[in-house]
Amino acid sequence: MDKKIKILTEKLKDERSKKVIFVSHCILNENTRYLGGAFRKGCIDEVVDEIQNQGIGIVQMKCPEQKAWGGIFKKHMWRPLGSKNTFLYKLKGVLLPFFIWNTKRIYRKLAKEVVAEIKDYIDSGFEVVGIVGLAGSPSCGVNTTLDIKKSAEVLANTSIDDLDKNKMNESCIKELLTKGKGLFIEALKEKLRKESIKIKFYEHDLISEMNGKDIILKL
Ligand code: SF4
Repeated sequence: MDKKIKILTEKLKDERSKKVIFVSHCILNENTRYLGGAFRKGCIDEVVDEIQNQGIGIVQMKCPEQKAWGGIFKKHMWRPLGSKNTFLYKLKGVLLPFFIWNTKRIYRKLAKEVVAEIKDYIDSGFEVVGIVGLAGSPSCGVNTTLDIKKSAEVLANTSIDDLDKNKMNESCIKELLTKGKGLFIEALKEKLRKESIKIKFYEHDLISEMNGKDIILKL
């Protein structure tokens, strides 16, 4: 920290806790969730309250799927829907690897921005308490993610007429959960490793939220 800023931070000492936590976008704004996947109108109050109670500032990361998959409604994720007997389906061996490759490419760029921001906080003498991801997300899952290939296959075999919120959450999400990291968390961890920055990861449980259970985020 340069000398002038150091003097200023002492002279202008204020109420800030100098602690921040980075959270997946939809913890503060479920409007970016996949269609059928928002269980709250806006933010997840109890997670926000817990962080607030501990005097930690919240930094909202961009929603990676919104950025990589075509905006708020993530229109690219719906391309396989009902495609089983189409020409598009025959090309899945090429299209799906390209989709994943392009997603990873964009996520690396987003991860670079997040890590630069984390570094700025650390270099400025702040504590970065952690990063909160979302269990069950193919992008933001920390320990639990979603099998993207199986998910594309289920969508290909589902017609738009047969799809409803329940089917979406049961067949396309719950049944396809698997252990592992989401692609964005993978990109973040890789970038943090390269920068030799150690940060704790936490995970908000999407399935508990889906089932209407109490959500406890232990920091
Ligand atoms: S889990 Fe990640 S990718 Fe999915 S809506 Fe939330 S922020 Fe976006």
